[in-house]
Amino acid sequence: MNSLLMSALCAVVMLSGCATNEVTGKSELRLMSPAEEQRLGEQQYSPMRQQAGGDYVADPGLQAYVSRVGQSLAVFAERELAYEFVVVNDSSWNAWALPGGKIALNRGLLLAMEDEAELAAVLAHEIVHADAGHSANQMSKAQLGGLGIEILGALIDAPGTRQAAQQLGQISFAAVQAKFGRDDELEADHFGMRYMVSAGYDPQGAVRLQERFLQKFGAGSSNNLFASHPPSAERVERNRATAAQWAEGGRVGRDEYQAATKRLRITQAAYEHYDQGREALTNEAANEALIQANRAIKIEGREALFYELKAQALLALDRKAEALKEANLAVKLNPDFHRHYLVRARIHRAMGRADRAEDDYRQAQQRLPTAEASEFLGEALIDSDPVKARALLTQARDLGGDLGDKAQAELDLITLMETPASLVQVRVTGAGDVQLVTLINHAKVPVRHVRLAPADGGPLLRVRGTFDPGEHALTELPQGTLALAKHWQVVSADGVSLR
Ligand SMILES: [Zn+2]
Repeated sequence: MNSLLMSALCAVVMLSGCATNEVTGKSELRLMSPAEEQRLGEQQYSPMRQQAGGDYVADPGLQAYVSRVGQSLAVFAERELAYEFVVVNDSSWNAWALPGGKIALNRGLLLAMEDEAELAAVLAHEIVHADAGHSANQMSKAQLGGLGIEILGALIDAPGTRQAAQQLGQISFAAVQAKFGRDDELEADHFGMRYMVSAGYDPQGAVRLQERFLQKFGAGSSNNLFASHPPSAERVERNRATAAQWAEGGRVGRDEYQAATKRLRITQAAYEHYDQGREALTNEAANEALIQANRAIKIEGREALFYELKAQALLALDRKAEALKEANLAVKLNPDFHRHYLVRARIHRAMGRADRAEDDYRQAQQRLPTAEASEFLGEALIDSDPVKARALLTQARDLGGDLGDKAQAELDLITLMETPASLVQVRVTGAGDVQLVTLINHAKVPVRHVRLAPADGGPLLRVRGTFDPGEHALTELPQGTLALAKHWQVVSADGVSLR
């Protein structure tokens, strides 16, 4: 919608959500209040970081440095948001901003930059996305078009997860990584450079950075590594023109940047080994994964992810005790990352220690709900707390993946306890002595101890045998038994656990 039409609409209809954008000065429709933006940002910042590989903790000095540069720019933002900046542990070139000023930068992107002015360009660009409400507006627009649920529900590597994401109140990575419109990108570049200049930085940093992105990804590239901020020749040109407004000069901060990212540069090869090791693990080449993990650890001994990879490789090689030692190290080095607990839980399971696995799954689940932990924790509660078990198993089923069917089977166990007739039915066909009696098991588990009752009252009938999912002719019933009544109902049936 163009801005003129928007202003007219706002003036005539007097929509309550119309407001002047503090950054651009344009009139626009706003469906998210500042309080909502803040709440959403605060609620999602942590799970989003968990999905993005966790925080980079091997060099706390680098986190502090990025945060300092970010805050020095944020003071020039138009809206006073609770800005936060964090480096997440991912090798790809990307950065994102949640509504409310919660910003993250990938470790890999830091290696793509050469000086503090370039870092300032990225951070200022993200600040504008939050400050001008781009992130919030994008979600609102999507909701207006009825697409909100889809976008919010599309968790990255789990298709069909709409309900789950809604239940968990999680915003997907895909939603935040979704492409901003061309206008939003140009706006973020333009006003970001203003904030840079206000903070004393050389705006040429933004030009150099865009040139590098364009060189790496190409114009109109569909490379999804940088999908949220597609580079273009237009952006380079516009940044050049914007920078020309100001006299040359400003802080570049090459030495400071090189010093702050020194450890990252020295250990870059370690992360390459790690990325290769993870790929090897995906391809079930555990020995190769172990070799790569050891190489990575030799270069950078403080990175929890490397010990996690080593633990996974050792577990795949059935070296459980050694795997546990490495998983303990991973948890010790980064106790905030959910995946280290998931990996350790798997090791405990392989060692037959369900109680310890449960503790670790709980730790993982607190940080980021996953199908794996939901399934395990839900299954453990089927008998003692079916209500809670149902909630967890529903979550596991809706998160999909390999565990979806298992979770559904476990949900059926609960349903069989509560309302057996909804999953197991009996059908009588024929007349007189010639009758066909069929038991239909709709559950995803076998059932046994089935008992039937006539619909209009009378003695119960016990059916012997175990019945797999599907239809079964009941041939062992005494002939004529079911002629006593036309309609029968299943009053109880035990599900057979897959355990
Ligand atoms: Zn952007």
